[in-house]
Amino acid sequence: MVSVHRIFDGRRLLVLLSVLLSLGFFMTTLGSYFVSKAAIRQAIIGQELPLASSNIYVELQKDLVRPVIISSTMAQDTFLRDWILNGERDTDAMSRYLQEVGSRYGAFSTFLVSERSSNYYVGKGILKKVSRQDPLDTWYYRVRDMKEDYELNVDPDAANRDAMTIFINYRVFDFAGQYLGATGIGITLDAMQQRIKDYQQRYQRTIYFVNAQGQTVQFGDKANSIDLHTQPGLSDLIDHILAAKNGGYQYESNGSTRLLNVHHIPELNWYLFVEKDEFEALAQVRNALYVNLGVCLAITILVVMLMNVSLSRYQRRIEDMASTDKLTGLLNRQAYDILMNRLMAQRARQPQPVSMLLIDLDYFKRVNDQYGHAMGDRALCEVTHQLRKILRKSDIAVRWGGEELLVVLDNCKLEEAQLMAEKIRQHIAQECRQIDGQPLALTVSIGVSQLNGDESPDQTIRRADAGLYLAKQGGRNRVEVMADPAEDGTPETGNKMPEDA
Ligand code: GH3
Ligand code: MG
Ligand code: MG
Repeated sequence: MVSVHRIFDGRRLLVLLSVLLSLGFFMTTLGSYFVSKAAIRQAIIGQELPLASSNIYVELQKDLVRPVIISSTMAQDTFLRDWILNGERDTDAMSRYLQEVGSRYGAFSTFLVSERSSNYYVGKGILKKVSRQDPLDTWYYRVRDMKEDYELNVDPDAANRDAMTIFINYRVFDFAGQYLGATGIGITLDAMQQRIKDYQQRYQRTIYFVNAQGQTVQFGDKANSIDLHTQPGLSDLIDHILAAKNGGYQYESNGSTRLLNVHHIPELNWYLFVEKDEFEALAQVRNALYVNLGVCLAITILVVMLMNVSLSRYQRRIEDMASTDKLTGLLNRQAYDILMNRLMAQRARQPQPVSMLLIDLDYFKRVNDQYGHAMGDRALCEVTHQLRKILRKSDIAVRWGGEELLVVLDNCKLEEAQLMAEKIRQHIAQECRQIDGQPLALTVSIGVSQLNGDESPDQTIRRADAGLYLAKQGGRNRVEVMADPAEDGTPETGNKMPEDA
């Protein structure tokens, strides 16, 4: 026996639910990703990079303050000043002095330039005479004329294979304030370079120095210096960076976002650049995003699956309740309407004979009168129970009225329907002779008709009803077949299809 399921299609609801769920999850996950991304970027630009930069700056200052103090001590040393005032007589004594200062304080080179003799003394003796004509000596004339006591100057060291060196050039005066020359020490940037390497490894940042012209400072190797005016991403920014001296920036280079902190070092007139690649910095957040998305997807699938199972279950239950008659379990009229529409649509696509049986219990009023309404109910149930045994899976059985049942036989011609009706009649007459030991002798009368041509199911039922009336007239417990009047009384074949069915 056919039952009504899937009147309401839950798939749309499930699709909508999964779309809503995944959209919600996707939005919140992505939202929180962007929030953390912005927060991390802010933390890098606002805290992490400036902190690293100040750390390096403090280290650098420590490296520079000591040499300044040493140079200041040298400039005020009585021996040094007396030695010049006494006519620079013992070169060896000065060499020993410079060597000793150098080795005691770990300075790379020590020097003295005398204003009177123009001699450039180093640990090994006289290196050269400074002259206004030699461009390498311009530093000396700058120092001689400057107002400050000392300067820091980065230059290649002629006494040390031109390695990049920071010189502290201190002005020397005699006891009356007369200018005597310049002394000081030079320190190589090896230590600083090593420290920067350590930082780079420890924090996975790129650290480098840039001079006032916007060129990277290459320790010991000038040829590799890069002009940042030609660097992608930085070229437009570099002049602004140099002018602003200190600040945090963000720029695109080769498809990746670089976060940059710049710290000006006034002592050297250099800029400390500390950089981090955002893509690498965000690796953790990105991984979390992928995991979150995976979890959300799994939850969505699980929820939709669970929803599908329980929805189908409830739907089946509700549809069963809505489509069947409570007493007999047969389909009700609403279900009949749905199934009949479906059958008619199917018949329009693929012509097939459809027959109808209208069944009515004989003298049923008597059962009620004699044994009570409850027994009447039980009798009705027993009849439907027996009817079910005979019907095929594709047949539609409906409680049409009080004790009137309609059976729609799909793919069944009138002759076969007649045989089926006869079988039902006999079976019920045989099987429903008593209920609970009470002799009842239930019988049914049946009207049979076939859906013809372009007629509506109502018309077919009306003919079956006419058959039923005849059966009752003929004495009950009978089957009456009603042919299509249009077919001139002969049983129809029912395979003619209406054009617009
Ligand atoms: P007939 O052979 O001419 O059909 O005689 P009948 O007594 O069956 O007459 P009819 O079909 O007109 O009467 C149907 C009776 O069935 C009337 C009503 O009280 C009873 N009936 C209808 N539905 C139910 C039901 O659900 N339960 C019970 N117990 N009785 C019902
Ligand atoms: Mg009856
Ligand atoms: Mg009746």
